[in-house]
Amino acid sequence: MFDLEKLIRPNIRRLQPYSSARNEFSGDAKIWLDANENPFGKGLNRYPDPYQSQLKKEIAKAKSVSTENIFLGNGSDEAIDLLIRAFCEPAKDAIITMPPTYGMYPVSAQVNNVEVKEIPLLQNFELNVKALLREVKNPRNKLTFICSPNNPTGNLIPREQIREILRAAVGIVVLDEAYIDFSPGNSLLFELEDYPNLVILQTFSKARGLAGIRLGMAFAERRIIKVLNRIKPHYNVSELTQKAALDAMRQEDQLLKAVDTIVKERKILEKKLGELECCVELYPSDANFVFGKFKNADAIYESLKNDGIIVRNRSRLLEGCLRITVGKPDENKALLIKLNQLQTKPKTNGR
Ligand SMILES: *Cc1c(COP(=O)(O)O)cnc(C)c1O
Repeated sequence: MFDLEKLIRPNIRRLQPYSSARNEFSGDAKIWLDANENPFGKGLNRYPDPYQSQLKKEIAKAKSVSTENIFLGNGSDEAIDLLIRAFCEPAKDAIITMPPTYGMYPVSAQVNNVEVKEIPLLQNFELNVKALLREVKNPRNKLTFICSPNNPTGNLIPREQIREILRAAVGIVVLDEAYIDFSPGNSLLFELEDYPNLVILQTFSKARGLAGIRLGMAFAERRIIKVLNRIKPHYNVSELTQKAALDAMRQEDQLLKAVDTIVKERKILEKKLGELECCVELYPSDANFVFGKFKNADAIYESLKNDGIIVRNRSRLLEGCLRITVGKPDENKALLIKLNQLQTKPKTNGR
């Protein structure tokens, strides 16, 4: 059975979190002499709200969850790291990942000296449910990372497969929905209350177009959120970031328009890439990128690069595979023109 208290590392359970001037007094005041700030600054001289109350209120409204179910971090990468630090005892516990997938899960685990158990995705990039059901019952495996839509393969993981893992896991299941805005209607967020062991990650970096501000969201049962808040760097989300995110939340219709354009462009790109002779296979994508297998992928990557067009070479991860982010219409056109030129050129000896 899932028992959250037992999952938390003992040192974290015992921890007395840092208490700052700003959380010992957070109401309204006339004169602030409690935090050693410079009173002469222009708008950014004060420490930010460490719990981002205003921003969380807006996010709670938009996502139909309670503010107590939201953690905000310096990118979702921070949430990934904090989850590992909260629940995995170094040199003892493990996380489960399903390659090919996002590279930060194993990196964060290694930084924390936590073992990574890999249960590769199947040929169709769906979960190996049978193997996973066995592994998630092992109490040493504290966190299971599922990425849907998956990076770099682009596919959504069938919901029923995720639910099966959630029901069986004695640890926490982290569902990374970084690309879910490109696949409307497919988030599992509205099922949060059904699973006390579910953590959902979303981000401002992809559909919301704000990778530069570094803001990630984790949604979970309030006790899990509490643990993350206890161990996070105190002022982990800057005032500039909180302001920029609040501004963005007020322009939701612009976001939807951009997502719409990107999805349309992805469909065009998928069709045109599929027609290329050098394209061996394109995998169905629910994200803002396409993932495919190409003849001479390394050579294609290099030629594009020489023309100033950078795609992601994933051929080391999966033979012959490139991941191509959907750009603006003219950028996608430039890519296709270049790829067409490459094909009509006589082949250079196999590379
Ligand atoms: C881009 C991405 C993220 C986002 O990370 P941030 O730190 O929020 O920018 C998370 N997970 C996956 C799978 C991603 O591809």
